[in-house]
Amino acid sequence: MGSCSCVRREDHHELLQQKHCVSVHGPIIVGAGPSGLAASACLSENGVPSLILERSDCIASLWQNRTYDRLKLHLPKHFCELPLLGFPKNFPKYPTKRQFISYMESYAQHFLIKPIFNQSVEKAEFDHSCGFWRVQTQDCEYISRWLIVATGENAEPVIPEIPGIDKFKVPVVHTSTYKSGFEFKNQRVLVIGCGNSGMEVGLDLCRYNAIPHMVVRNTVHVLPREMFGVSTFGVAMALLKWLPLKLVDKVLLLLSSFILGNTDELGIRRPKTGPIELKNVTGKTPVLDVGALSQIRSGKIKVVEGVKEITRNGAKFMDGQEKEFDSIILATGYRSNVPTWLKGCDFFTKDGMPRTPFPNGWKGENGLYTVGFTRRGILGTTSDAVKIGQDIADRWRGQFRTSTTLVIPMLSYSENMNKIRRN
Ligand SMILES: Cc1cc2nc3c(=O)[nH]c(=O)nc-3n(C[C@H](O)[C@H](O)[C@H](O)COP(=O)(O)OP(=O)(O)OC[C@H]3O[C@@H](n4cnc5c(N)ncnc54)[C@H](O)[C@@H]3O)c2cc1C
Repeated sequence: MGSCSCVRREDHHELLQQKHCVSVHGPIIVGAGPSGLAASACLSENGVPSLILERSDCIASLWQNRTYDRLKLHLPKHFCELPLLGFPKNFPKYPTKRQFISYMESYAQHFLIKPIFNQSVEKAEFDHSCGFWRVQTQDCEYISRWLIVATGENAEPVIPEIPGIDKFKVPVVHTSTYKSGFEFKNQRVLVIGCGNSGMEVGLDLCRYNAIPHMVVRNTVHVLPREMFGVSTFGVAMALLKWLPLKLVDKVLLLLSSFILGNTDELGIRRPKTGPIELKNVTGKTPVLDVGALSQIRSGKIKVVEGVKEITRNGAKFMDGQEKEFDSIILATGYRSNVPTWLKGCDFFTKDGMPRTPFPNGWKGENGLYTVGFTRRGILGTTSDAVKIGQDIADRWRGQFRTSTTLVIPMLSYSENMNKIRRN
């Protein structure tokens, strides 16, 4: 790849001529998921152009490519709206995955957002000598004063190291590639993990007459999705306005045990810390039950102990039992990938989350911003995106007001991309 020299004002013209180097007028946003789109829309609303780089070939790729067919939003739609444009009125309370994707597509269309696809950011670093971010993809180097990280908390699947996992007779799959229980019809399936994905995959498998065994190694809070017709999330939000967090947790647990019964009896032990406090401290999301619990109660989903070892035909468990399985599905969650590509900056922890917790983790130094790393889903994304839009707009206007400083002329991205392709 041709590389750019440091972007000093006098070198700037020369730099723009060099191949494989794109100077971006406005911020670079990495990731075209809901967070990247929201940031771009909020900037555009404030008159600031931006450029989104996306590694896959579509917007909202997590939703399009890495989620199962029967997925619906876990929270009611009014908690999952992006800023400036809400869901269509005729959408149900819990939109399906397809409906959510169509909402994302109309959102991008409405704000004329056109990401550059198939651009995987491999490295981004602030160049102190010239005050610009240098963002490298496999094809090109992009340069801007501002970098907005929108690669998500769920960028890569977590694949745990379980002894013997390579010995299993067929490939072990992660929920990111699971589409439906159809492929597992009548099979004995070991589902490793009991978060929202594990529970929902277990439920989906039951619909196809599979026999899911769900590994519950750690404690977990299971709450009903709704309490007396109101979403549990909504109940929690309302109570938090009036009551201290610990008391809210007590109320939620009381109501949950009234609605769901004692989950301990089903082998699903609750953590000592309450659900909201646990979420705030560790980021661990409570499971919102959409029917898996009743399948566990009826014995259709079997709860099993932690796995000691995978064998060719099945698994050995911590309690000494051994069982045979036809398939194994890892419902072991996702992680951020920021540390693999964002260099020379300690704004993020080694786990790829901002060191400063919500609501202050959206802004770093030297024009660095983050959107969607709040552990609060799309509600957190919206809060970040609005602040970023305003903050960058203030600087953007200031830049033009004071401007003897460098203002990068807008290059045509398609021109640049064509140049890159030609080379
Ligand atoms: C099964 C499931 C159900 C969920 N349900 C809900 C729900 O009901 N409500 C809710 O609020 N939240 C829900 N979430 C959380 C959900 O992930 C987020 O709310 C939302 O998708 C976050 O958007 P994002 O843009 O921050 O991240 P993502 O949607 O993950 O988008 C990040 C984008 O960045 C791209 N990217 C990553 N690395 C690079 C790179 N190096 N270079 C270029 N591009 C890159 C990815 O390809 C991706 O397109 C759910 C998550 C899962 C997994």
